[in-house]
Amino acid sequence: MREFLTKFRDPEIARALIKDVRHLATRVADRLGRRVVLMEVCGTHTVAISRAGLRSLLGDLLDLRSGPGCPVCVTDYADVDRMVALARLPGVTVGTFGDMVRVPGSDSSLERERAAGADIRIFYSPADAVAWAAAHPERELVFLGVGFETTAPAVALSIKEAGARGLKNFSVYVNHKLVPPALMALLEDPEIKVDGFILPGHVSAIIGRRAYSFLEAFRLPAAITGFETNDILEGIRQILKMMWGKEPRVVNGYTRVVREEGNKIAQREMAAVFRVGDASWRGFGVIPGSGLTLAAPFAAFDAAARFTLPPVVPRVPAGCACGEILKGKLTPKECRLFAVACNPTSPVGPCMVSSEGACAAYYQFERHY
Ligand code: SF4
Repeated sequence: MREFLTKFRDPEIARALIKDVRHLATRVADRLGRRVVLMEVCGTHTVAISRAGLRSLLGDLLDLRSGPGCPVCVTDYADVDRMVALARLPGVTVGTFGDMVRVPGSDSSLERERAAGADIRIFYSPADAVAWAAAHPERELVFLGVGFETTAPAVALSIKEAGARGLKNFSVYVNHKLVPPALMALLEDPEIKVDGFILPGHVSAIIGRRAYSFLEAFRLPAAITGFETNDILEGIRQILKMMWGKEPRVVNGYTRVVREEGNKIAQREMAAVFRVGDASWRGFGVIPGSGLTLAAPFAAFDAAARFTLPPVVPRVPAGCACGEILKGKLTPKECRLFAVACNPTSPVGPCMVSSEGACAAYYQFERHY
């Protein structure tokens, strides 16, 4: 495997790709009369691009913008506040993936609630949460279903498992989001100018290349890429080539993982447990058809229906530009709080908290140049 991956990290191949990318980008930028704007939709790509220094290496020709692909970051303020409210309920244990714990809500975070005595547990998989609930029938375990198409199948399976085991003390606060409707929302926003998308690898492994076919109607080139530096450079090269040839398509540059139709088993599990519904995204507001809700046979596992929560009145932290960053309108360095009042030790917004957050990536790898 290591040998197989070597070519995706080979510096000689990287040098050749950079030369090609610069050559193509120069021609396209000359034609446009400005830098080429590409959006990396996925938070893991944001981190990989920052770590590899591609933004500074290509920044004179390419404006590489982060997008809405960090699941913790796009979780709306009101939903964070509801998660905090769940953690405050007596007898309730909140189970979550790690990054969600530090995301600030209006007046607290799960981390702060835990310090104040709430029972909040980090699980590495939803299946572990089910096992924990089975072993602790005296507690109500609410698992926070946060994430895109990548994590939703595992959460779907956990709900089926809880049903099969007859668990009455397991439920899910469903906050899953779907990537294609968010891309559509970006394309429909006249204030957002993107010339091409670098599409996520993990999400695409589930939904497949075909799920992005709608982009072709917008005549927007896009490439699904992996996460090694050479994967990303090759994806950028393909997008530029399509721009230069005026032949926009959605290409799959990650064929070692992504199939045309995606992962049908995962899709089937999601379809069995969830239904598509509207969802509210940080920075975007409600995007039609961009979220998941529980299908009727699994309604008993819906934490939002099982528990009565107080009304939430979310407060956006003053000066935090996460919403604009998630839409590619601003870069982290354009937020006036970046590296001043906001840093990974004392984050103001989720984009500085998450390991996939744009502000955290810029802070770690790009704040000095
Ligand atoms: Fe929000 Fe901090 Fe990022 Fe500014 S730097 S957008 S305050 S997370």
